[in-house]
Amino acid sequence: MKAYQTLLYYCYSPIENAEEFADVHLQFCKSLDLVGRIIVADEGLNGTISGTRESCKAYMDAIHADPRFAKTDFKIDDVEKPTFIKMHCRYKSEIVHSGLRDPKVINPNERTGIHLEPHDFLKMKDEEDVVILDVRSDYEHNLGHFKNAVRLDIENFREFPEKINELAKYKGKKVLTYCTGGIKCEKASALLLHHGFEDVYQLHGGIIKYGKEVGGKDFEGQCYVFDNRVAVDVNTVNPTVVSTCFNCGVETLKMINCANPECNEHFTQCDHCGDKLEGCCSETCQQHPRKRPYDGTGYYVKVPQPVNLEKKKARQTMV
Ligand SMILES: [Zn+2]
Ligand SMILES: [Zn+2]
Repeated sequence: MKAYQTLLYYCYSPIENAEEFADVHLQFCKSLDLVGRIIVADEGLNGTISGTRESCKAYMDAIHADPRFAKTDFKIDDVEKPTFIKMHCRYKSEIVHSGLRDPKVINPNERTGIHLEPHDFLKMKDEEDVVILDVRSDYEHNLGHFKNAVRLDIENFREFPEKINELAKYKGKKVLTYCTGGIKCEKASALLLHHGFEDVYQLHGGIIKYGKEVGGKDFEGQCYVFDNRVAVDVNTVNPTVVSTCFNCGVETLKMINCANPECNEHFTQCDHCGDKLEGCCSETCQQHPRKRPYDGTGYYVKVPQPVNLEKKKARQTMV
């Protein structure tokens, strides 16, 4: 039995004095020796945390004992070691950045897509008139996605609302949304309903729960996660690899950050190209004077600097 666990969870539930709550909650997490990242907003909680089994249990018990968060669904992974270095708990305007902040317009507690448990999602996804919609960002679905899923060309969930018009052609169909742990779907499906989509469903607990409960059938590739594991396997039924090396095109699952701290591009790269380019996305980045030493993981603890968008665009037009 592995000694540690990583918990993924969210709860849309109003929190009064959320800023103060975030401070107190941080101290509570530290007292349990947990590490991870929690976002607190007026609308609820969103976290990925890691620690010993005992600490994780104490945390889950405390959350469930609070009537505001009693219904929180934890996705639990057993891990060899904690999957974060530090503990952060921060107040933000939303628990997942969507730009949909007005609870009078979008409020998952009042109106959201019908939650499908993994076995229901599995049954329904291949029916006629069904569209499977991936609401995650490009770097996530490039690494893995459901077979036949509609994927969006977005770098961040806050771009999702701009894509509603593109999706209008699916209005007469059953739309099944999914994301990593379910949190984005709460707002994405609510927004679809708001825009006149009628038959909207969401995968409750996301890809992670689907992997645990039904073996991840028809999820192609790996699931991107927001901790230092970077990606996890979900499909034990019919697994495949869908991602390819950004530099040479060979199949690879390895996702790294460019060793040039100013680039920090998140991309897939095979070990061979990683060795050759020292964990950089290009020879230009390899020349950067502040290039970080590549240890084969492509994971850097230091908070990334903003991505150089102009450079990224230039590179995309080159491809
Ligand atoms: Zn390569
Ligand atoms: Zn780079």
